[in-house]
Amino acid sequence: MSIYTGPVFEMARDQFTVIADHLAIPADERDRLLLPKRALTVAVPIHMDNGQTAVFTGYRVQHHLTLGPTKGGTRFAANVDIGEIAALAVWMSWKCALAELPYGGAKGGITVDPRALSLRELENLSRRYMQEMIPFVGPRVDVMAPDMGTNEQVMAWFMDTYSMYQGVTVSEIVTGKPVESGGTLGRREATGHGVAFLVFRAMERLGINPSGATAIIQGFGNVGSYAALALAARGVKIVGVSDHTIALHDPKGFDVAALTQYATAHGVLKGFGDAAQIDPKELLLQRCDALIPAAVERVINKDNAGKLQCRILAEGANGPTTPEADLILAQRNQEIFVIPDILCNAGGVIVSYFEWVQDLQQYFWSKDEVMKRLEIALERSWNNVVHRAQLDNIPNRVAAMAIGVERVRNAKRTRGLFP
Ligand code: NAD
Repeated sequence: MSIYTGPVFEMARDQFTVIADHLAIPADERDRLLLPKRALTVAVPIHMDNGQTAVFTGYRVQHHLTLGPTKGGTRFAANVDIGEIAALAVWMSWKCALAELPYGGAKGGITVDPRALSLRELENLSRRYMQEMIPFVGPRVDVMAPDMGTNEQVMAWFMDTYSMYQGVTVSEIVTGKPVESGGTLGRREATGHGVAFLVFRAMERLGINPSGATAIIQGFGNVGSYAALALAARGVKIVGVSDHTIALHDPKGFDVAALTQYATAHGVLKGFGDAAQIDPKELLLQRCDALIPAAVERVINKDNAGKLQCRILAEGANGPTTPEADLILAQRNQEIFVIPDILCNAGGVIVSYFEWVQDLQQYFWSKDEVMKRLEIALERSWNNVVHRAQLDNIPNRVAAMAIGVERVRNAKRTRGLFP
C-alpha cells in the first residue's frame, strides 16, 4: 500500500504509465523510477497572535537522488496533502531532467491557507517548518524554493533559519530569495518570462503575429502576472485574467501594468473593473490565441477540453491538464498546440539553478546574462521536445516526459543498483 494517494498523485502515475509504455520500460523498473525515495511529514507548532498554539502539518518529498541534490518548491495551501506534494516532486524530476539540470525533483508544503495568517504568524510558521526540515535538506541534499502561497520573503526566512543553526550564512539552501539576501537577478520574472518566450516560439511555428494576438491567463500570481507583462510587451492583448477571487474578460484587452499594480496593492484582482466579470469556468472557454493556466492542477479536464477555443495551451501551472483531457487534446492536435508544463514553466527552476550556482561560487551575474542563459536553455528544451514529438509522432507532453524519464533512467542504469 502506498502512502501516496489522491487524484493528483494518480494523475502523475497515469502519465508515467503512458511514458513507460511508450518507452517499453519493463515492469520491474517502473516502481524504481516512479516511487519517491524519501518523504517526511512534520507537525509544526507555532504561537498564534491570540496567544494560543496551533499545529500545522508540513511535508517534504524527495523523488530521486540519482543526478545530484533534489530541488523543488514549497507550497502553502489549504488543501495540500502528501499525495499532491509527491506528484509535484515527480513532475519536478522530469522537468529538471528535460532541462538537463543536475537535480532530482522535490516538493514541500504545509496544509494552511497563508492568507488567513498575520505576517508574524506566517514568519513563525515558515521558520518552524524550516527548522523541522534541517535533518532532511541541505545545499547538496535538497534545495528548497517558492511555489504557490510562498514568496521571496518566506525564502529569506527559510535561509536565515537554516543559517542560524549552521552558524554561517548558507544562501545556497534555498532559491527564489530576495536579491539582497543572495538571490539572483531575474528569478522573480523567470517563470513568467519563460512561459511567454515559449508562447512566442509556438506563435512563430503556427504563423501567428504576437502583435494583436490574444491571451487568457488563469492565476495572477508570480507566474501569471510576469507572463502577462512579457506577452503585453510584444503586443499580445490580454483579454482575460482570473485569480481565486474573480475572473475578468474583455475582448478589448486589459491594461496589464494597471492590473499588476492593482494586484500588488490589494493582493487580489477583485475590485479591478468588476464590470468585466465572467464565470471562471467560462473564462477558459473563450476564444484566444494562447490560454495560460497559471494557478492550480486539473483545471483542463474531460468536461472542458473539447470546448477550448485557443490555438496554444501554455501550461504555466504544474499539472493543469488531466490525462482524460490529454486524450481529447490528442484528437485536437491540429487545432491546439500544447506546451506541456514541464517545458512551459521550466524557466523557474532553470534560473533557480543559476541562483544556486552563483551562491555556491559567491560570484553574481548581471540580469542580462541570466536572461540570455535562460533563453538558451529553454530554446534547447523546446527544440528537443518539438523534434522528438515529430520523430515519434507523439503529443508534446509525451515527448517532453519521455526525454525526462529517459535521462533519469539512463543515469540509474549507468550508476547501477547499490549494493
Ligand atoms: P502564486 O501563489 O504567486 O499565485 C497563484 C495565483 O493563482 C494567485 O493569483 C491565486 O489567486 C490564483 N489562484 C489560486 N487558485 C485559483 C483558482 N482556483 N482559479 C483561479 N486562480 C486561482 O503562485 P505561482 O508561484 O504563480 O504558481 C502558480 C502555478 O505555477 C503553480 O501551479 C506552481 O506550481 C506553478 N509554478 C510556479 C513557479 C514559480 O517560479 N513560482 C515555477 C514553476 C511552476
